[in-house]
Amino acid sequence: MNRREFSKLSALTLAATQMRAQVPSTKPLGFAAVGLGTISNIFMSACAKSDKAKIVGLVTGHPAEKGPRYSTMYNVPQNSIYTYDTYNKIRDNKAIEAVYIGLPNSMHMEYTVRAAEAGKHVLCEKPMAISSAEGRKMIDACKHAKVKLMIAYRIQYEPLFAEMKRRINSGEIGKVQSIEGGFYGNQPLGAWRLDKALAGGGPLMDLGIYPMNTSRYILGEEPTVTSAVTSTPDASDPRFAQVEETIKWTMKFPNGATASYGCSYGERGPSAFTFVGDKGTLTMQPAFNYSGAHLRGQTSAGPVDEPSTGQQPYQFVLEADHFADCVRNNKEPRTPGEEGLKDMLLMESIYKAAGHSIA
Ligand code: NAD
Repeated sequence: MNRREFSKLSALTLAATQMRAQVPSTKPLGFAAVGLGTISNIFMSACAKSDKAKIVGLVTGHPAEKGPRYSTMYNVPQNSIYTYDTYNKIRDNKAIEAVYIGLPNSMHMEYTVRAAEAGKHVLCEKPMAISSAEGRKMIDACKHAKVKLMIAYRIQYEPLFAEMKRRINSGEIGKVQSIEGGFYGNQPLGAWRLDKALAGGGPLMDLGIYPMNTSRYILGEEPTVTSAVTSTPDASDPRFAQVEETIKWTMKFPNGATASYGCSYGERGPSAFTFVGDKGTLTMQPAFNYSGAHLRGQTSAGPVDEPSTGQQPYQFVLEADHFADCVRNNKEPRTPGEEGLKDMLLMESIYKAAGHSIA
C-alpha cells in the first residue's frame, strides 16, 4: 500500500469510527452474513432471536437463489445483497456495521481483511484461518482499521461450560491431573472440509479445535504439544487423499495436567470432555454439540448432574450478544483474534509433531 492509499484508508477509517460513535448503544448491531451455508443459517436464526443483533445484509455466491430466500426470511433490503465480487461495497452501507464470516477456512483471512478495510467489525468462524501467518494478518488489519475482531468460539459462551470452569477453578475436583476430549463427525466425498486448499487441514482444524480451545479456556493456561499421530486406516479411501482421517494428540499444561484428545472424520466417537482431579471428576457429554450439553461427575461438593437448559441456537445468540455488547461499549471480545491465533499456533505444532505441514 502506498502513502496515498494509506492516508485514504486512514481517512475512511476515521469517518467510520466517527459514524459508529453516534450509534445509540441499544440499537441492534447490524450484521451482513458472509457465505450462506450451514453455520450462517444457524447464526442468522440466532440474530432473529436476539435483541442486540440483526441481519441487515447478505453476501453470497448464489444471489439469485439465496438472496430472495434469506432477504424474505430476515427482511433484508434487495440493495443489501452482495456477491463476493461486490463485497467491498458494504463500505457504503451504513446499516452494515459488522460481518459474520461463515465461509470455508481458507477464505476467512481475505474476507476479514476486506471487511476491516471497509470499516466493518468482524465476527469470524473458527478456525480463524488456515495458518498463524494468516491469523496475524487478520489481527493487524482489524487493529489498523480500529474494528473489533472476535472468533466464534461458541462453547466459551455456553453457560454450562462456564459452570464447569467455575467448579474446576474453585477446587471442587482438587488439583487437575488429566483431561480427555474428543469430537467426531463423518464427511462425504466432495466436501470442502476434505480439500486441503480450502480447509487447511483435516478434523483437527474443524473438530479437534473444540476440546483444545475449551481446555485452555477452563484452565486459563497455555499447553505445549507432547505428541501427535494421524491415521487413515483405509489408505485407498478417496476422501482422505489430502487430509488426515483421524488425529490423536497429547499436551501438557504448566500446572502439570496432561491432556489427551482425538477427532476424526471416520470414527463415530463421543462428543465428550472429562477433567480428572485428585478430589473428583467432571465430564461434559454431549459436550460440543449445538445443544444438549450435560455435566456429570463426583466432586468434593457432591454428585453433579446438570443438563443444559438452552435450545439451539442459544449459544449463537449469546455469542452474537457478546459481540454486539463489545462493539457498542467498546470492549475487547472474550475470544479476540489473539485467542484464535493461539489455537492456530498449537495446531501447527500438532501437525508438526505428527509429521505433517499446515497450509
Ligand atoms: P458450508 O459448506 O455449509 O457453508 C459454506 C458456505 O461458503 C456456503 O454458503 C458456500 O456456498 C460458501 N462458499 C463460498 N466459496 C466456497 C468454496 N470455494 N467452496 C465451498 N463453499 C464455498 O460450511 P459450514 O459448515 O457452514 O462451515 C463454514 C465455516 O464455519 C467453517 O470455517 C467452519 O469451521 C465453521 N463452522 C463452525 C461451527 C460452529 O459451531 N462454530 C460449526 C460448523 C462450521
